[in-house]
Amino acid sequence: MPTHTTNADLFARAQRVIPGGVSSPVRAFGSVGGTPYFVARAEGPHVWDVEGRRLVDVVQSYGAIIAGHAHPAIVEAVAAAAADGTSYGAPTEREVLLAEEIRTRVPACERVRLVSSGTEATMSAIRLVRGATGRDRLVKFAGNYHGHSDGLLADAGSAVALIEADPSDPTAVPGSAGVPRGAVADTVVVPYNRVPELDDTVACVIVEPVAANMGLVPPAPGFLAGLRAECDRVGALLVFDEVITGFRLGRGGAQGRYGVTPDLSCFGKVIGGGLNVGAFGGRADLMDQMAPLGPVYQAGTLSGNPLATAAGLAALDLLDDAAYTRLEATARRLGEGLAGALGAAGLDVVVPVEGPLLGIHLAADPAVDYDTARTTDTATYARLFHALLDRGIALAPGPYEILFPGLAHDDATVDEVLAAAGDAARAVAEAGT
Ligand SMILES: *Cc1c(COP(=O)(O)O)cnc(C)c1O
Repeated sequence: MPTHTTNADLFARAQRVIPGGVSSPVRAFGSVGGTPYFVARAEGPHVWDVEGRRLVDVVQSYGAIIAGHAHPAIVEAVAAAAADGTSYGAPTEREVLLAEEIRTRVPACERVRLVSSGTEATMSAIRLVRGATGRDRLVKFAGNYHGHSDGLLADAGSAVALIEADPSDPTAVPGSAGVPRGAVADTVVVPYNRVPELDDTVACVIVEPVAANMGLVPPAPGFLAGLRAECDRVGALLVFDEVITGFRLGRGGAQGRYGVTPDLSCFGKVIGGGLNVGAFGGRADLMDQMAPLGPVYQAGTLSGNPLATAAGLAALDLLDDAAYTRLEATARRLGEGLAGALGAAGLDVVVPVEGPLLGIHLAADPAVDYDTARTTDTATYARLFHALLDRGIALAPGPYEILFPGLAHDDATVDEVLAAAGDAARAVAEAGT
């Protein structure tokens, strides 16, 4: 890799040719300030920036990476696939294998369709539920993120918090400019962790079964089962957005962990092994309403492409029961350590841990929904972020993103993060008084 450059130089050049200098907004460090590091390469739990600096990375591509960067088995699988051609526009064996593997782990996915991103998965699932039910309204939860399609951008948590419309302005467009009022007219936003009362105009409820885009907010006991029952009562469909939880929270994702079965499930991130994949799946009678069998259209030039399916299969191959046990142990250790280190320095902090997922909530009380999630002290997060970055630890550059410890974060790496966290928290607490 060419490294005769600096982060500042590249960011300046990037801003002259790419809006904000980035290909996805949070990467611009808007909510923490400063200059983003430009990554030159990565391996295991580490990334190296273009200045040659090594960082312990707990971003892990926002959860797309679970086995550590550049895992040899995944690199090898991708390289071998690429040598045979990168896309054909014709079906391949690996698509069948990946779909079968998803169905084995998540039996409610009797049929699976592969797409190229989580956004495509949720967008297509919503079209399918509307087509199948003949109803238009969808219910989503404030602070849940389901990708960047028009109808799902209302109150969408972390990514969109930066550009949220002024809530006191009744003419404001929710989520993003450029979303026509009509596109969100059938989107009803309700508070997380409370079962809404539905009626028979509702096509579906879409939910992050563990909310992971407003910090980490686990489902309250009975919440997911309550959604299932309420959907059944009015004939609405239940859609789990498992783009983060799928194949990370456990072999069977959130539905496996909590024993609640949705009608449709959406996947992304982990199942691409770090490449561009999404998928959605569910009951055969529903999924078979997709084209070419049924009237609901959806397509993609690169859907199920050889590189992405090779990477996804190689990643899933690494995810056996022992892997999940390790992921949970790592998250627990990291979570307890972070809570201790930040708390000892005098910061108000709650570190929710749910299986292998954890968040940092800088407030005295745990978050249960979007309103309480937003009590996190964003200014302190920004200072903590930079104090950690100065000490070689990369958190996500946004207060509502979660941490993604993976199989490459061994005990020594976790210890390194915790030592830096204690030191960083003391520096932040001193500067704050
Ligand atoms: C990341 C994410 C998406 C969108 O996936 P992309 O691949 O970024 O389009 C959807 N839902 C959830 C819960 C996510 O975290």
